[in-house]
Amino acid sequence: MSNNTVDTLQGNTSAERARPEPAGGVEFFGLDDHAVRQLRIAKIDHAGNPVRPFVDRGDQWPLRCCLATSRPGERVAIVAFSPFPWNSPYRATGPVVIHADPCAGSAAFDGALPAQFSDQAKILRGYGTDDDREHTIVYDLGRLVGPAHGRPNIVGEIADMLTDPRVEFVHAYNVLAGCYAFGARRR
Ligand SMILES: [Zn+2]
Repeated sequence: MSNNTVDTLQGNTSAERARPEPAGGVEFFGLDDHAVRQLRIAKIDHAGNPVRPFVDRGDQWPLRCCLATSRPGERVAIVAFSPFPWNSPYRATGPVVIHADPCAGSAAFDGALPAQFSDQAKILRGYGTDDDREHTIVYDLGRLVGPAHGRPNIVGEIADMLTDPRVEFVHAYNVLAGCYAFGARRR
């Protein structure tokens, strides 16, 4: 969770070098539609908290359900969510903002990186199998990216991580707040 002004960084004039990409390309994703629907129905989040909707008053919350920004009058909720498809010690739960009411979910985007993220600093973590351990962080691939950190090509950095066969998917987190932002996998 983070107001989208917090970690937006300006300026990107650096030349970007070519990087290898996974053969089929990269698909970006938000929260799992089914898991979001279940949470809305249960009205309990992944940490056991009751879901408490509130109305956007022009705050432009960064929504993780449909990777859009909330509009005035929409009901949203800050909820604890675990964006992992498996259980392991690495399955973390943290705060995200979602529409409190049904929304388009993943149908709202086409798998490309939404524009709201293209100039933001992010922490990237690769998850997969490493050193015979399943469902783990692949530690040596993690990186801090963004124009202010000498790695302006976020899509290229993620594609680079996904060329590593140990990586199942990449998660992006906000730098200061640490909140989950989006995921990416091989198409
Ligand atoms: Zn939504």
